Parts: sequence; C-alpha cells; structure tokens
Amino acid sequence: MFENASRTELSAIGEFALIEHITKDIQLQQNTVKGVGDDAAVIDQGNGTFTLVSTDLLVEGVHFDLSYFPLKHLGYKSITTNLSDIYAMNGTPKQVTVSIALSNRFSLEAVEEIYSGIRLACNHYKIDLVGGDTSTAKQGLMISVTAIGEVAAEKITYRNGAKPLELVVVSGDLGASYCGYQVLEREKRIFLDNPNAQPDLAGYDYIIERQLKPEARKDVVAILENLGVKPSSMIDISDGLASECFHLAKQSGVGITLYEEKIPIDPTTYNFARELDLDPVVTALSGGEDYELLMTISQQDYAKIENHPDLTVIGFVTEAAEGMNLISKGGQKHGLKAQGWKAF
Ligand code: ADP
Ligand code: MG
Repeated sequence: MFENASRTELSAIGEFALIEHITKDIQLQQNTVKGVGDDAAVIDQGNGTFTLVSTDLLVEGVHFDLSYFPLKHLGYKSITTNLSDIYAMNGTPKQVTVSIALSNRFSLEAVEEIYSGIRLACNHYKIDLVGGDTSTAKQGLMISVTAIGEVAAEKITYRNGAKPLELVVVSGDLGASYCGYQVLEREKRIFLDNPNAQPDLAGYDYIIERQLKPEARKDVVAILENLGVKPSSMIDISDGLASECFHLAKQSGVGITLYEEKIPIDPTTYNFARELDLDPVVTALSGGEDYELLMTISQQDYAKIENHPDLTVIGFVTEAAEGMNLISKGGQKHGLKAQGWKAF
C-alpha cells in the first residue's frame, strides 16, 4: 500500500511527535512569520499588523459526550476554545469559519441548537462567522472551527520568548474544568446504572460551567494592555498547566520551576477533587481545558501585576539545565511531569 511497508502505531509516537513528524519538512514560501508550532500561525500583512490563524477539531466521543453535553453549549465551546488560541498570541479574534460533519442521527433542530450557541459566542466576543463547510458523516458529529485574528507586530507573544529569571504567571484558576468533567461523568454512570436517578449537581455549578461553557480570556489581553505588561511568552492552557509549561520551556530553551502552593485553585475544585480522592494540584497540573493564559513576564513588571486578582505568579524561569521542577508545599523539589491529554 505504501512505499515503506513497516507500520508504526500512532499511539507509539503520540500527538506532539506526530505533528512534529508530519510538519518537519515544510518550507515556508509566503509572508508567513510563524507556521506550525504556536497557538496560531502568524502572517505578516506588511503594515505593522500580523494576521493570526488557528484551527481546532472537536470529535464526538473523543472531545465531547452528547449524553450530557448540551448542543448549544457545544457550539459555544467550539468557538471560545478557538478564540483562546488567538488571545494566547496577545491578539484580537475577528472572524471564524465553522465546518460540521453530521450523521443522520442529527435533526435540523439539533443543528439549530449548535448554531444558537455559536451565534451567542460570536455576539459575546464580537466575532463574524464568515463561512465553513457542511458534510454528512457515517457516524457521529464533528465540528472544526478556524479563528482569524489580528495583532500589532510589536505586541505579539510567542511560546518561545521566555528567559531565565522571569516570572511564570497564570490567569484565573485551574483544574475546575477537569473536575466538572468528572462530576458529569459520575452522574452519567449513576444514570446508566439507574435511569430513574435524578442528577445531583447541586454545589458544583462553577466547575460544571467551566467544563460546559468555558470562556476565552479576552479580558486578560485587555488587562495586560492596561497594565502596560507585554509577556515575553504566552500559551493558553488546553492540555493542563504542566504540559503547557513544557511547551513554553522547550520552545524558549529554558527550564521552569513552579511552586505548588501558588497554583490557583478554586474552593469548589479543591473540595470536589478531595471528594474523589484526587490531589487538587494534580487536577490543575494535568486536567486541562482551563483555557486560562499562561505567560512569562520580566521581574520589572512584577509590581504592575502583583495586586491583580486575575493574575498569579506561580513560578520562575530557569536555565534549561535546571529542567522542569515543582517545589512542594513542604519545600521539596520534584521533577515536573506532563501528563496532559492523550490524543492517541
Ligand atoms: P493548540 O493546543 O494550541 O490548539 P496543538 O497542540 O493542537 O495546538 O497544535 C500545535 C501546532 O501544530 C499548531 O501550530 C497547529 O497548527 C499545528 N498542527 C496540529 N495538527 C496539524 C496538522 N495535522 N498539520 C499541520 N499542522 C498541525
Ligand atoms: Mg493553544
């Protein structure tokens, strides 16, 4: 079938190595400033403005479970998770395209629900939906969104600008979305065991909302602008704090040390993780889908962000040789592990 007859399982190399493998020989031939490898591709308009482009694909049964994921929320989330990648470049999203593939299990009314969520997100973030593609599918539902944005050339933040001695800063709080997912999965199992059981979601509103209706941190980009802070690197947290720290560190050629006790965790997240016998810090490090922004800033900018309720210093950048570390509450240094989302 192929020239090379040997067979390698995708699970043996994993998502990131696969992307690296299939894109390593690409030679840029246009006004592309940055191709593969950041949250968005960067295109030079030649007038001091860069265009940003980012795509995500959501697959039923892999990225969402329609037994508890409302279609309207799915539409909303498909947009906000893409916008998050544009904000991670310190940019402003402007347009999206939306492509869907649907099996005959879905009715017109179902598609209308998805699009009501898409419209809501577009109105909330002031984005134009400008196109897409529609196809039938043998089974299930797939949604792919492409977001297009803009950023002034001098404002752009890549993953590769972190320097030793800088501070590692994160917006909002972490681990909530993963805990929300765990609540929903737990209630699904209870329902499957006993279809008469009523879902018990009381008290979990915050973490469920973080899973079903995540927002993109448009406000954080505005806050940074107002504070006069330009991060030296930035990435959005889709696969878990630890995994994103590895991306920043690898691309910047540095190490990162985090303080366990500084990682911001909401009380609802904390209590639910404890209920499940999970370490709340692990949900923050490895849970993912937080869609918060992780960045590095120079120490001179510390005073500007110090008192901001949405920004927390969680660690510092080191020389690469020091590697990736987590200082525990007891003061011990442990190697940081990236156990984020596994695509294969
Ligand atoms: P994110 O989590 O920020 O959406 P990903 O980890 O999905 O980013 O992708 C990392 C980089 O690899 C991005 O620059 C993305 O555009 C690129 N990429 C992912 N899949 C492919 C592919 N199949 N072909 C080319 N580039 C890809
Ligand atoms: Mg991203």
